[in-house]
Amino acid sequence: MLTAITGVNWGDEGKGRMVDLLSENYDIVVRYQGGNNAGHTVVNEKGKFVLNLLPSGILRDDVVNVIGNGVVVDIKHLVEEMNKLKAGGINITPDNLKVSDRAIIVMPYHVEQDCLEEERLADAAYGSTKRGIAPVYGDKYMKKGIRMGELLDDKEGLKERLKGIIEWKNLMIENGYGKEAISFDEMWAYLEEYGEIVKHFVCDTGVFLNESNKNGKDIMFEAQLGALRDIDYGIYPFTSSSSTIAPYAPIGAGVPNLKVTKSIGIMKAYSTCVGEGPFTAEMFGDKAEELRKAGNEYGAATGRPRRVGGFDILASRYGVRCQGADEIALTKLDVLSYLKEIPVCVGYTFNGEMLKEFPIGEKLFKAEPVYEYREGWMEDVSNCRKLEELPEKAIDYIRYIEEVVDCKIKYVSVGPEREQYIVMP
Ligand code: GDP
Repeated sequence: MLTAITGVNWGDEGKGRMVDLLSENYDIVVRYQGGNNAGHTVVNEKGKFVLNLLPSGILRDDVVNVIGNGVVVDIKHLVEEMNKLKAGGINITPDNLKVSDRAIIVMPYHVEQDCLEEERLADAAYGSTKRGIAPVYGDKYMKKGIRMGELLDDKEGLKERLKGIIEWKNLMIENGYGKEAISFDEMWAYLEEYGEIVKHFVCDTGVFLNESNKNGKDIMFEAQLGALRDIDYGIYPFTSSSSTIAPYAPIGAGVPNLKVTKSIGIMKAYSTCVGEGPFTAEMFGDKAEELRKAGNEYGAATGRPRRVGGFDILASRYGVRCQGADEIALTKLDVLSYLKEIPVCVGYTFNGEMLKEFPIGEKLFKAEPVYEYREGWMEDVSNCRKLEELPEKAIDYIRYIEEVVDCKIKYVSVGPEREQYIVMP
């Protein structure tokens, strides 16, 4: 089985928690896009872990984890993340972690470029996480990236390429931004220091995954961020720089010859969006603050308060479609328990007209939300483990969401811990 677990919304849907839960039935978990610019929070019997780069399966002893070619790898961050987990009692070796030889390395100058550009843009900034992600993907497409596999090659070849790349980069850093030139010696020393540690994990993940698939192993593809941050289908230009959607999973993993057999979309019972960009369902003031507090909506990687709103039907239906979701895991239902009336964004208007589809450009930037309210259940649901144990109004809410997004809700998460979920009949 090849299953993709992806975000239906703007990210932070609780993918980490669902991957941690569902990975029990998988042999391999693969990250196929993005970098260390988002965080997955996983709480289990070993403790609470924030994973930025490592696949969530790393917390299970018998799961092999793969960082695919579609990922961009900050090697210093990878070493630090591995060290933190090791200190928490997690075992990481080349047997349970494999990094694609085709994945591109995030260099310190990518981070610098990211910061300089956000600074230059000032008020018009994109709200980048400043982890160098846009610059490194940009370089990938400019054919100026360094691949993990080059760490295994002869050093002279890599040295020459790095020299050429830095010469090119300095045209922008020195002459464009007017900053101090990047030093080749420092960058080389950086690659040597961290490359020496991470190179032991580097291999052709395509060969590994194809063999594993032939041998009947079950593979899970784990996405970072959500459909609305996808570079092609998201709220461009306020998107991430990678493809967050399920159909890209085999490509970003190293197995373009294989097909995803099941797509599970993770969708939140309300909406959140971290950073800049159009977020039509956004709520403000006390009501927003209450929801933010109830859901503990602060970014795992950056600590930034997330923007919040009611469940957004138009955006979620679109997200479900982009993910080709076969089934959905609805998360954070417990967070809504304090609400007497649950706000739901049932659609958008533009120039007074109701929109039928999730829009782009001007329409999206100027769309107004249309809100309706559903009756709340006002009861703690975090101990419910079966559908029958949920209050009737909570079941009504789940059924309503299922109908409006037109996809089966298979799992309902009622808390951050591994066992706090319900499998829907
Ligand atoms: P991800 O990036 O999609 O993995 O999401 P994050 O980890 O950034 O955000 C999800 C947050 O919600 C984490 O702190 C989880 O521990 C927490 N969480 C996940 N599912 C639930 C749930 O059903 N209820 C509650 N209360 N918290 C949850």
